[in-house]
Amino acid sequence: MLIVGTANTAPGLVDGMAALRDGASATDAVEVALRAVESNPEDDSVGLGGLPNLLGQVELDASIMEGTGLRAGAVGALAGFLHPISVARKVMELLPHVLLVGEGAARFARETGAETGELLTEASLTKYRERLGASGVLAAVETDDPEVPLYRLLQQHMHYRPGGTANVIARDREGRLACGVTTSGWAFKYPGRLGDSPIIGAGGYADDRYGAAACTGLGEVALRLCTAHSLVRSLAAGQSADEACAAALQEAQELPLGMPFVLNILALDAQGRQAFWSTKGPEARYLSLGPEEDQPQSLPASGLPTAG
Ligand code: ASP
Repeated sequence: MLIVGTANTAPGLVDGMAALRDGASATDAVEVALRAVESNPEDDSVGLGGLPNLLGQVELDASIMEGTGLRAGAVGALAGFLHPISVARKVMELLPHVLLVGEGAARFARETGAETGELLTEASLTKYRERLGASGVLAAVETDDPEVPLYRLLQQHMHYRPGGTANVIARDREGRLACGVTTSGWAFKYPGRLGDSPIIGAGGYADDRYGAAACTGLGEVALRLCTAHSLVRSLAAGQSADEACAAALQEAQELPLGMPFVLNILALDAQGRQAFWSTKGPEARYLSLGPEEDQPQSLPASGLPTAG
C-alpha cells in the first residue's frame, strides 16, 4: 500500500492512507484524499477558494482513473459544486461516458446529489480584483463591451501562474492503482478552457499492469504530449518510473512553446516504485505516505531545472 501526491495534498493523504489500511480500494483512497484538498480554502488552485476565470467564475476540472480495467471518469468547467473529484467518479460509475463538461456536468452533478456551494472565497475574489483591476481587464470585463473581445484581453494580460492542482496516486492492498487530478485550472483563464486535468491520458492515467502517472503545471503542455499516457507506455516498454519521468519531462522541455512553463510529473509503477520529476528541479516537492508512517514525507523532485 502506498499513497503519493503533490505538495498540496497533505490535508488528504493521511485520510487516504487510513482508508487503504481499512481495506478500501485505491479509487476510494484517491477520492477521500482529494475531497479533503478540495475542501481546503487556503489552496487557491483547487475546489473551494480556487481562482476564477476571466469573468470571475470558478470552473473546476477533475478526473479519476482506475488501473483495473482502465475505467475512467472526468468533469470539465464544472461550476457550483464542491467536489468535482466525486462527480468525476460518478461519471465513471454511472454513465457509459468518460467526460462531461459545463452545463451537462452540472446537471449530472445535481441529479446525483453532489454537494453544491459557493466556490469563490473573499480571498480569491480579492486576488482576482487585484490582478485584473491592475491590468485594466476588470473594467473591460464589467462593461461587457463586445468591442473588446475576451480573447484579446487574455492575449494582452495572459498570466500563467503555475504551482497548483492536486494529483494523488494510490496503490491498495491488492496492488490495484488509481490516480486522481483536481483543479481550478489556469488562474483567470478564458471561460470554458480545459487543461490537462480532466483529460484522461494528459493529466492522469493508470494501468495496473504497468503503473500510473499524473501531471501538474502548464496543462497545454501535457495536453499536446499526452504526458500521463506516454509515461505509462514507457513503463510498459520496460523503463523504470524515474526513466519514464525523465523521458516525458525531456519531451516537454523540447516542445517549442515560446513561453516559460512548469511541468511536474508524478508516477507510481505497478510494483509501487515512485518518481516525481519537475522542470523546477529539486525545488519542487511531493508527498509520499506508506502504511507504517503517520505523516507524509516531503521529498524533492528529480530533473534538471529549465533555464530561465
Ligand atoms: N495543470 C493545471 C491546468 O493546466 C494547472 C496547474 O497544474 O498549475 O489546468
